[in-house]
Parts: sequence; structure tokens; C-alpha cells
Amino acid sequence: MLDEGLQLSESIEGADLVVINTCAFIDVAREESIATILDAAEAKRPSARLVVTGCLAERYGSELAQELPEVDLVAGFGVDFISEQSASQRPTSSGPVSLGTVITRRSRTTSTERSSAGSGSYRSAHVGDIELSLPAMDLLNLPRRTTTSPWAYVKVAEGCDKACGFCAIPSFRGVQVSRPMEAIVEEARALAIEEVVLVAQDLANYGRDLYGKSRLLDLYREVSSVVPWVRLLYLYPSELTPALIAEMAASEVPYFDLSLQHVSRSLLRRMRRFGSGSIFLERIAAIRALRPEATFRSNFILGYPGETEADHRELVSFIEEAELDWVGFFTYSQEEGTYAAGLDGVVDRGLALERLNELTEIQDRITQRKRSALIGDRLSVLVERKGVARSFREAPEIDGNILVDPSLVVGSRCEVVVDACSGIDLLAH
Ligand code: SF4
Repeated sequence: MLDEGLQLSESIEGADLVVINTCAFIDVAREESIATILDAAEAKRPSARLVVTGCLAERYGSELAQELPEVDLVAGFGVDFISEQSASQRPTSSGPVSLGTVITRRSRTTSTERSSAGSGSYRSAHVGDIELSLPAMDLLNLPRRTTTSPWAYVKVAEGCDKACGFCAIPSFRGVQVSRPMEAIVEEARALAIEEVVLVAQDLANYGRDLYGKSRLLDLYREVSSVVPWVRLLYLYPSELTPALIAEMAASEVPYFDLSLQHVSRSLLRRMRRFGSGSIFLERIAAIRALRPEATFRSNFILGYPGETEADHRELVSFIEEAELDWVGFFTYSQEEGTYAAGLDGVVDRGLALERLNELTEIQDRITQRKRSALIGDRLSVLVERKGVARSFREAPEIDGNILVDPSLVVGSRCEVVVDACSGIDLLAH
């Protein structure tokens, strides 16, 4: 749309078209998505069109279209769910940009691209009297917008072949579809930025569908040859091979985001996942032996069906011993159609919250101690926006920041000395 001359509005109030990208992973994400849609519906101009897309739209498209008449179009991953009845009762947009024009123009471009690639399937749909032609699946191949930020996410695959007990993602994202390596490397090169964050639902499995085996290590090497900092987010621990560990540990970004979820062996099996606390501790120690300052992030689910007090104590001991830098704790969210939804041993929500609070307190102290230990150190940072920088230790958007002199040039990499901590942020000069 930007390529075709539309302009990004600074505010919802000033926009002719408002697009809300949603998340449907767990209950809190869905609640936040719905709240955002309702806020946008209220804030937008009456003539502006409101489109809801993303995972919530994919997973609950028809329900959303039914329940939210204020939404003009509910569009999943290129497969449309149209609120036809409510749309036909609504006048066509009288604003300077009509949604139909936007989407029809966009899909023509996509149609040419995909037919030249020898694939593509399209569906016709209507919003009121506007005919739309939507690509059936084009998420991975959309041309991307040039970024003004010195870092960007690059999606390398969509979908997941695993079947973790709590997770509904494979049911609506489908099996893994990886992008060809050359396309990813080309995108990373064209971005011409300082940091690329490679993401996928199951990043460590990248390429298995295309190449018959995981090619994450090759991809990592290739992207590292065109971008100074390459960060890998959300690595399933079983596929963290010694070769990948060695390469990451020797890199400028020895940052390990390991998706552990729990440490009790029996509970992990109930989650239909790999590993145990002792295996994870060994891997972490092996990484630290290679690179003592390596940074670790992980996330854990509390109150999964069958989680006993003993399982919880095991997790508490692990958290105290592992001394990870950043950790996200989440209470279990029962997801329709998942294996875990049929399990017995449901944990009381209050107890799950108690466990979450206990672990959060312990981890906050660890994180704080690790942040304070950096006072006086000289760090190499990337200035990501005015007055805000990050070192390899902080992933964008989820970890802390380093507050620096606002006169430092955005996009530059420089050395700073840490003076103090402010919560999880560092102050440096
Ligand atoms: S690896 Fe497990 S948790 Fe992650 S997307 Fe796949 S099924 Fe879900």
C-alpha cells in the first residue's frame, strides 16, 4: 500500500484506513487484541474503514465478523472472512481512500508477482458492493517496507511441525513453510541495517520442509555475512546443536533465547516437549564455558495441567541456579482443540498466579543483580533511537534498554560506559 502511494498516518484519528494486526496465542493476547479493536473503532473517523487481520482473525474470523459489527473486514492470512451481512448494511466509504480500492490495487500487484512465480490461488469476496480479489496465502512473500530503524525482524518461516500440548499455533498457522535462503539473505542485505532479528514459530527447524533438514546454521552464517548483528529468537532447545552454539557464542550477539517452558521431565512430556532441567543446565553451562558473558532469555508456563508442587519447586531451583538474564512467566491458558485441553490435573488459576508471583520475584532479583553487575563496564551498543541504545544483551522490544546521550547518531554503533541502573534499563555515557 505504501509502494502504491498511500501514506502512513500518525494517528488513528487522521487515518482513512485502520488495520489492526492481532494475536491469538493465549487468552491475554486475545483480550488485548479485542480491546485494541474496540478502542480503534471508537477513535477512528466515522468514514474510515477498520480491518482486522492476524491470528485472531484467522482463528476466530467468523465469530469476530459476527460479534464486531464495527469492523468492516476481518481478513485472516490472505484467506478472507467477510462480515457480508453487516458490510452490506453499511454505506461505502466516502473518505478519500476506500478500502476496496486499497485491497483491489494491492491484490493486482500480488497477482502479478505470484503468477510469475508459478503459484497462487485467489478468492473473490465482497464488502458491500466492492469486489475484492484476495491472495490465498502470501504472508511470506510480501515486499517489505524500507525501514528507518537500524534493526528489523525478518521472518524466515511460517507455521510449525511440532505439537506442543498447550499450543494451538499449528492448528491455524499450519505446517512449516520456509522461505528460500537466498530470498532471506537478499532481504537482509537490502535492508542495509545494523541488526536483523530472525523469527519463525520454530526457528531452529528452519528449512526442514525445503531442504530436508534444518538449515538454520547455514542461514545464520549467510545473514551474518551481510548484517553485523544477527539475533535468533525463540530456539527450541533440542535443535540447538553444538555447531550452532559455537557459531553463536563466537558472534557479536551471543544471545540465546531458549524456549524451555518448564524443567520437570515428567511435565515436559505431558507438554509433549523435549528436555529436562539437568539437560538445560548442562547446555547453559556449555555455552557459558565458550562465552562467559553469553546472555540468556527463556519463558515458562505455570499451572500446566498436572503441574505438582514438586514440579514447581524444581522450576524454582532451576531459576535460582541457571541465573538467566531475562525470563517471561505465563500462566497456562487452555486453548481450544489442543492436547492439553483434554488433560486432567487442572491447576487452580489462583495457585498458578501464586507460582507466577513467586518466580517473578526471584527472577526480578536475578535480573537486577545481573544488570547492576554491568555498572562501570564499557559496552558496544547500537543507537536505536534518540537517547536509546542496546547492546547484544538486550533484544529489541522485549528486554531493557541503555539510555545514552541524545546527541549520539541514531543507527550508529559506539562504545559507552555504564553509570547506573534504572529498573532493567542501564544509564550510560
Ligand atoms: S514449537 Fe511448540 S510452542 Fe512453538 S509454535 Fe510449535 S507447537 Fe507451538
